Amino acid sequence: MDFINDSKYEIKLTQTFKTLDIFKLVFAIVYIMLISIIMYAEVEVNKVLQDWLIILTHAAGAPLIIALWKTQWLAITLLIGIVFSVASHASIIFDWNVDKIEPMDIAFANLTLVLIAIVVIFDKIPEWTIPVLFTLTVLNTIFWDVVWVYSITSGIINLCVAVYVCYRLCVPTPRRNVTFMVIGLLMGICGTVFFLRDGHHSDKNYAILHSVWHICSYGSLYFAVRSIRPDVDIQELRRPRIEFARKLEFGKFAYKD
Ligand SMILES: [Zn+2]
Repeated sequence: MDFINDSKYEIKLTQTFKTLDIFKLVFAIVYIMLISIIMYAEVEVNKVLQDWLIILTHAAGAPLIIALWKTQWLAITLLIGIVFSVASHASIIFDWNVDKIEPMDIAFANLTLVLIAIVVIFDKIPEWTIPVLFTLTVLNTIFWDVVWVYSITSGIINLCVAVYVCYRLCVPTPRRNVTFMVIGLLMGICGTVFFLRDGHHSDKNYAILHSVWHICSYGSLYFAVRSIRPDVDIQELRRPRIEFARKLEFGKFAYKD
């Protein structure tokens, strides 16, 4: 708690936003507004441009990988997820083996979501979460076309993160950047609205609406990761190593003390 009263820490807080953070936030806001205006004005966007946008917006995942690079197993898992997502959208565009490739995208997208939720909510990764991750991934891969399966799991996970963010707003700690957490939460909510409205693969505006989901979801995960341990080095873009808990316990919430 001494940290909060430390004037040096307060000064440092104003230097929290790195160039990449500002670029990511401004780009996301401009992109969301631009697509919203296009949709509101009912402008017809040709399919080729929409297909390019749905593929190119995966680049929004790159800063997330950079921020997590110190924890390579996590960064590479997320990178594989991005590759599967590109493959899945390419398979939809070319109508090639969609029913084999899309399940991998759905499984890894949910795996990414749960992994980030765990590192946000817990101090260290509790061991029990690993079998839960395996089980959820298998369930999401098999029941990829049953919407309620991943809707319920991702809904519960998002609710847990939202509760944690609200708790942190009430009880702030120097070990968690609340501004980044709130930006992450708002981007996640905004992305979900576009995700729920993108409709079917064959719908007229599916690709352009879904491209906003890419920008928002990667942005949300990025700011969630950036909120972790600003007290270690506030100037550091890459987040400190994320560890596994050694003790047999449910897990220590980040952060009690
Ligand atoms: Zn997608």
